[in-house]
Amino acid sequence: MLAGGMEYRLVVTGLACLGALSGCAGAGRAGAGACARPQAFADAAIYNAAAQTNLVFDPFGRIEAGWAVYAPRLGRTVGTACPVGSPGFARAVARWQAAHQLDPHGGVDPATFEAIKTEWQDARPFVRLRKAGVCPDPPDEARLALVPPADSWRGAEVRLQPKAMRALKRMIAAARRADPRIAADPEAMTAFSGYRSPAYDAARCAAENNCEGLARAACSSHRTGLAVDLALGAAPGFNVDSSADANRLYQVNTPAYRWLVANARRFGFVNYAFEPWHWEWTGRRP
Ligand SMILES: [Zn+2]
Repeated sequence: MLAGGMEYRLVVTGLACLGALSGCAGAGRAGAGACARPQAFADAAIYNAAAQTNLVFDPFGRIEAGWAVYAPRLGRTVGTACPVGSPGFARAVARWQAAHQLDPHGGVDPATFEAIKTEWQDARPFVRLRKAGVCPDPPDEARLALVPPADSWRGAEVRLQPKAMRALKRMIAAARRADPRIAADPEAMTAFSGYRSPAYDAARCAAENNCEGLARAACSSHRTGLAVDLALGAAPGFNVDSSADANRLYQVNTPAYRWLVANARRFGFVNYAFEPWHWEWTGRRP
């Protein structure tokens, strides 16, 4: 049996992974080599294999089934490359839990996800400002820099604060050098949105009757000129900025997103986990 507190609402539909790209490769089996150990985390591994697709929770204000969309970032945060359904993954989760005063059972349950999510969100300066009740003023639009055509998506005119634009340019170049799959796709990681004026966002949210929703908050981080949306492709039938679960699951399994999760911090960028495409420049390297 797992340690206490694991009896969360698992919708028992079997391990119906959401398609081949869902990151379910490790589900139901131990994983190879070191990831298959230790046996003490075998039960937690089974829990994680199921929870990644079946756990019903609402981490970002919308009911979701499972945390497979967040698996790449979870692995990065707890410091393991082991498959989600392996004891090695569960052991890494347990170590993170122990270091954060949580019961170290190794399962990514709602309490653990909430703690990890808080860490992710607090890494965004914009979120820290909003928590303090501040909506930052937009920059002088005349001083914004245009993202070069080679780094923008399908001719989009994307503007950012100059330092953020230069960091983005360096980051895209590094990704193309590092991974031939990214280099081979001229749209991968290109910017499709950057600075948006408060007036533009207000008009759009009013038109769409969605000023407070997830998609476009009344005070959007895009007003800072430090937030950028990067193309990660889209699942068939979806747009690059669709927050449908099937689309997000597709995007987090692209080479571009995987590379960003591992490397964006070196260039000062942090991700809003709910939107794989949304990145914010912090001006800081770890
Ligand atoms: Zn965005």
